[in-house]
Amino acid sequence: DVPAKIIDGKATAKDVRDEIAAEISRMKDAIGIVPGLAVILVGDRKDSATYVRNKKKACESVGIDSYEVNLPESATEEEVLKFISDFNDDPAVHGILVQLPLPCHMNEQNILNAVSIDKDVDGFHPLNIGRLAMRGREPLFVSCTPKGCIELLHRYNVEIKGKRAVVIGRSNIVGTPAALLLQREDATVSTVHSRTKNPEEITRQADIIIAAVGKPNMVRGSWIKPGAVIIDVGINPVEDADSPRGYRLVGDVCFDEASKVASAITPVPGGVGPMTIAMLLSNTLASAKRAHNFK
Ligand code: NDP
Repeated sequence: DVPAKIIDGKATAKDVRDEIAAEISRMKDAIGIVPGLAVILVGDRKDSATYVRNKKKACESVGIDSYEVNLPESATEEEVLKFISDFNDDPAVHGILVQLPLPCHMNEQNILNAVSIDKDVDGFHPLNIGRLAMRGREPLFVSCTPKGCIELLHRYNVEIKGKRAVVIGRSNIVGTPAALLLQREDATVSTVHSRTKNPEEITRQADIIIAAVGKPNMVRGSWIKPGAVIIDVGINPVEDADSPRGYRLVGDVCFDEASKVASAITPVPGGVGPMTIAMLLSNTLASAKRAHNFK
């Protein structure tokens, strides 16, 4: 058995960030403009605060200006909508991101709908998702995690056209857009979800598997066709007494088994995670270039 090639998301994300930084300095030199990203965080969830901090750091590392709004858990939907509306009108802001999940007294749909589709760098606006699903239409933005998955396949020269792909999971933010993207790239796509019977019979036919479920080690070696390429989106904490934090992160795919069968696989951590943030930066740059008609 030849062990699978590791698809190194950390190194690839670094390459992407370097390209973005170079492009931003070219734009700054030419027209004196740098991209701006506004991040709205409501409440004090620790994980959300960590994500926001990492996004801010990533912005700094490539030269994107970031604007952060922190609202208390008790904030009203109207207050959030007011910030969104101000950022929609602010020419220094090219991307607006509302960190999810929102407190349950807010209507997530209303809030995501309020983000201008020209600044929807998360790609969560229904118009952007709708355009992604339509033949002959182009979304202004594609959500960052699925985009990062496809970028990894491209950069590792994995052929998608004509291949059989299986996406496990159908969430609005990962599974569904991942399946739509693969279909746009001419793969034949099946989606597996919680009501699918005998999912392993379907995954065993796949040349490419994208797993976005949230179930540690669900995809076993026996679910995988020899030589398949595996993109593991899952981030699952599992107890680990040997780790200083008492837990470690594993994917939705059993890495030890899968890496003996697959031809290439992403690790967790260090696979899709870093690519997600890199794609956010890339979307923000693309938005600024579009707004200023900079080629
Ligand atoms: P959701 O919980 O929104 O969606 C999970 C999907 O998995 C649902 O479509 C669900 O099916 C399906 N599912 C649940 N159980 C099973 C099962 N036993 N068999 C088959 N399908 C099942 O999760 P997300 O899409 O938001 O995230 C998925 C994973 O990816 C999580 O681990 C999350 O932490 C991680 N993630 C990682 C990111 C990164 O940057 N690397 C970014 C975002 C998420 P149904 O629709 O029928 O309920």
